Amino acid sequence: MTDHQPRKTALVLGAGGFIGSHMVKRLKGEGYWVRGVDLKHPEFSKTCADEFIIGDLRDANFVSKCLEYKGPYPNNFKYEVPYKLIEPFHEIYQFAADMGGAGFVFTGENDADIMHNSCQINLNVLEEQRKLNETFDGVEKEWTECNRPKLNYKTKIFYSGSACMYPEHNQQDPKNPDCREKSAYPANPDSEYGWEKLFSERLYLAYNRNHDIPVRIARYHNIYGPEGTWHGGREKAPAAICRKVAYADTVGTIDVWGDGEQTRSFLFIDECIEATRRLMDSDFIGPVNIGSEEMVTINQLVDTAATVAKKIIEKNYIEGPLGVRGRNSNNDLIKEKLDWNYVMTLEDGIRRTYNWIMGEISKELYYAEGDKDITGKKYVAYGNCGK
Ligand code: NAD
Repeated sequence: MTDHQPRKTALVLGAGGFIGSHMVKRLKGEGYWVRGVDLKHPEFSKTCADEFIIGDLRDANFVSKCLEYKGPYPNNFKYEVPYKLIEPFHEIYQFAADMGGAGFVFTGENDADIMHNSCQINLNVLEEQRKLNETFDGVEKEWTECNRPKLNYKTKIFYSGSACMYPEHNQQDPKNPDCREKSAYPANPDSEYGWEKLFSERLYLAYNRNHDIPVRIARYHNIYGPEGTWHGGREKAPAAICRKVAYADTVGTIDVWGDGEQTRSFLFIDECIEATRRLMDSDFIGPVNIGSEEMVTINQLVDTAATVAKKIIEKNYIEGPLGVRGRNSNNDLIKEKLDWNYVMTLEDGIRRTYNWIMGEISKELYYAEGDKDITGKKYVAYGNCGK
């Protein structure tokens, strides 16, 4: 480390989103200097980042600026600083993507955006980091301003892949899906979101091989918890079910897509962050599953939310986008490589998520009618991290 980079620095892309904003909190807790970047600020609490930049990561010029650490003072991003003071980050966490639950990903209506936007972001991040790295070559140039030393570290990049890249044909039996890492090929994801995730994890591996960029790749399995999207069309199953149960009567009925017999596993956000940090600190590149092995049907997920809410909930089965018939994390590899496994039960995690959603509802900042929000009101974030 040089004098002007006294502690570890991290760039969190997608820091206004669910996992990104939790990662920022964790990194700040560990003493990192953190820059967050997103199209938007976090929706449910103020960011803990030292510097938060709003911008579009599909723009390569913007990405190139984001990758430059310019010293610990917030807002240096905007200013010209001497060339010599610019350094790469120690770590980058790449969470930015066009993302949503089944209602966004599996309808087919958003395929072009999902593929184009997310690919573009990943292409930009890797290519701009490659270019930045190459300027730190220790070679003396005629234009002395451009002389940059060889550094004693290389920026490590974490990429948040998804279990949606696993082949559809291995996930047709709801009781026995195969999601071992090595089952990925021959590839046959059931959604364009999954194909993009597969392409991008290969892209990260290619930049690792050809340009010596250290990468770490996870395949997340349904991450959920407080401060995740819970309404509006991009929410995932646990938040959607908690919301529906929260709005239902004490003895009530909620809509469930399909017959509710499709299986999934769900990992609580804190455990996801812990596993991701362990992966980042390890020498293991991945790709590796980060998920829970507590597989349940969507009907069981509803029953769990009903138990937590102390309600009697009937299910009304309706047509809707479903995804694969069965999916469960297989944690053999992560146990072996990182000595990590999930510990929280689904019921505990749903209790925390349900209580958080109840809190959001009780703030009366959103008014809902059935499944649809009719609010024009914007949530006003309240502080944490002392901000
Ligand atoms: P999220 O939607 O809450 O966060 C993604 C963030 O990226 C959003 O805040 C969004 O505004 C930002 N973003 C999108 N396009 C951008 C752009 N062009 N420029 C700048 N910012 C942009 O999603 P999340 O649940 O936090 O997921 C984070 C990552 O993990 C995503 O890549 C997602 O595909 C992956 N993942 C998540 C899950 C899960 O269950 N949440 C499962 C598998 C993989």
